[in-house]
Amino acid sequence: MTSPVWHPFTQHGLNEPIPHVVRAEGALLHLDDGSTLIDGISSWWVTTHGHCNPRIAAAIAAQAGTLDQMIFAGYTHDPAEKVARELVEIAPRGHGRPDLAHVFFSDSGSTAVEVALKMALGHWHNLGAPDRHRILVLQHGYHGDTIGAMSVGERGVYNRAWSPLLFDVGTIPFPSVGHERLCLDALEAACAARPAPAAFIVEPLILGAGGMLVYAPEMLRKMAAICARHDVLFIADEVMTGWGRTGTLFACEQAGVVPDILCVAKGITGGAIPLAATLATAAIFDSHRSQDRAKQFYHSSSYTANPIACAAAVANLAIWREEDVLGRIAALSSGIARRMTALAAHCAFANPRQLGTIAAIDLITPDAGYLSDLAPRLRAFFLEHGLLLRPLGNTIYLMPPYCVDEDQLDYIFTTLVAAGDRFGVQA
Ligand SMILES: *Cc1c(COP(=O)(O)O)cnc(C)c1O
Repeated sequence: MTSPVWHPFTQHGLNEPIPHVVRAEGALLHLDDGSTLIDGISSWWVTTHGHCNPRIAAAIAAQAGTLDQMIFAGYTHDPAEKVARELVEIAPRGHGRPDLAHVFFSDSGSTAVEVALKMALGHWHNLGAPDRHRILVLQHGYHGDTIGAMSVGERGVYNRAWSPLLFDVGTIPFPSVGHERLCLDALEAACAARPAPAAFIVEPLILGAGGMLVYAPEMLRKMAAICARHDVLFIADEVMTGWGRTGTLFACEQAGVVPDILCVAKGITGGAIPLAATLATAAIFDSHRSQDRAKQFYHSSSYTANPIACAAAVANLAIWREEDVLGRIAALSSGIARRMTALAAHCAFANPRQLGTIAAIDLITPDAGYLSDLAPRLRAFFLEHGLLLRPLGNTIYLMPPYCVDEDQLDYIFTTLVAAGDRFGVQA
């Protein structure tokens, strides 16, 4: 029976198998044939504590029977108020920078980024500097798949068809080891150009979809300082890095950076249901606050701050407050580190890197392009072995939910060694 479903990032013409998942718990997905998969990438980076976390599931059920959905333009509700208050409290703060004091809700990482970009331009527009509309971006960045989010991300085969729609940006070279000066000088020059740019958007400490590329906290701190000196808004896209992924609640904390705008999504509900938030400083909120309706922030979607999604986020925040999530993350991170050291000794692999619960390694192969069929072949190999992984080209990465246990980790790494034996070209 053929399905009418059109899947994301899927070439239906290749007729690759599409496993049918019926149930999930903890780090496991159960398939309709009775087999299970270990979810090695947290279902595309969203599941933090594990699937079907009982506290989050109970909060969703209770809220669904109380207040399911309502207009959020000019109305409010408890779950949204609670989430906003707590986000403001736990957001990066201090270091002589203004607090992130206001929270705008949306539904996905991409929309959180669209909102951030609109806020940045709205800010300068309302302050009488409408020519400050240029956005600076970091090379190899990824910020989502809507038109604005694609515009500020790396260009490639995955957005070539829409390139006529994408707006022009200033690209700052990635601060790889040995190229730090190049990056900082380019940023300094771009910030000093006139008209001045509106904002600089970055993924803090690790670029996800760009290939799990890690850079030093020191570089993040220096980039933020350059922006602050030039009064260019600093947007931190913590859609992937937030909620403990990198070892701290937010990656910015490791660099002592407080952005002007912070995007969060993915793990904000523990990964159970879509929700996103864009946090902004009082200065950005205040440039939109006026007696003049033309200056209000013109953005909304039907499900803005959906109460069920907000209730899930409230439950997630309670888990963070009441359980030792960071302790769990620290234990998982060292468990991964130990096993990565052994894996890195395998001659089929190179360039091991890790940041908290995210680990990546490159498979040495002559055919490593984005469109090479290596990634789908690896994916199929892992699927056969009961493991959900989705390599980026020849980069194999792990981003398991924090509940993954020692036996499951052992199994994951045994399977990675098997993949190296099978697909690696010995250097
Ligand atoms: C996943 C991701 C996004 C997009 O989030 P969606 O919820 O998939 O729209 C944006 N930025 C970063 C850094 C991401 O990893």
